[in-house]
Amino acid sequence: MAQAGKKQQSAPPVKHVPQRTCIACRRGDAKRELVRLVRDSAGRVSVDPGGKARGRGAYVCRDAACWDVAFKRHAIERAFKLEQLHPEDRAALLAYRSSLEPEPSLAEATRSAEPRSAADRTDTGGS
Ligand SMILES: [Zn+2]
Repeated sequence: MAQAGKKQQSAPPVKHVPQRTCIACRRGDAKRELVRLVRDSAGRVSVDPGGKARGRGAYVCRDAACWDVAFKRHAIERAFKLEQLHPEDRAALLAYRSSLEPEPSLAEATRSAEPRSAADRTDTGGS
């Protein structure tokens, strides 16, 4: 009966860890800060700076460009399975977005380099 004992392996718990990825650029770079959005039971969406509010969460980079993409592609609505954002929520999110000022040094760096190189790498698949 030694067989039963052999099964006792320390199998690592393969748990699905919800990866925090930006709903706009789909990147989950730990170096970039992600802002959590939360949707409450009433379908209202708000910024959750503490990251502890209850409800379905979604993340966007702390980067105005990603917020622009999120609004343009309706990524927030999709992430929360909403038909549309509540106008007040949308206004609040837009206000939050405009509080995110792009760092001038960073903007200059991306301008001299190729701004699309990263996007191309992730977005070339498909027909
Ligand atoms: Zn992003």
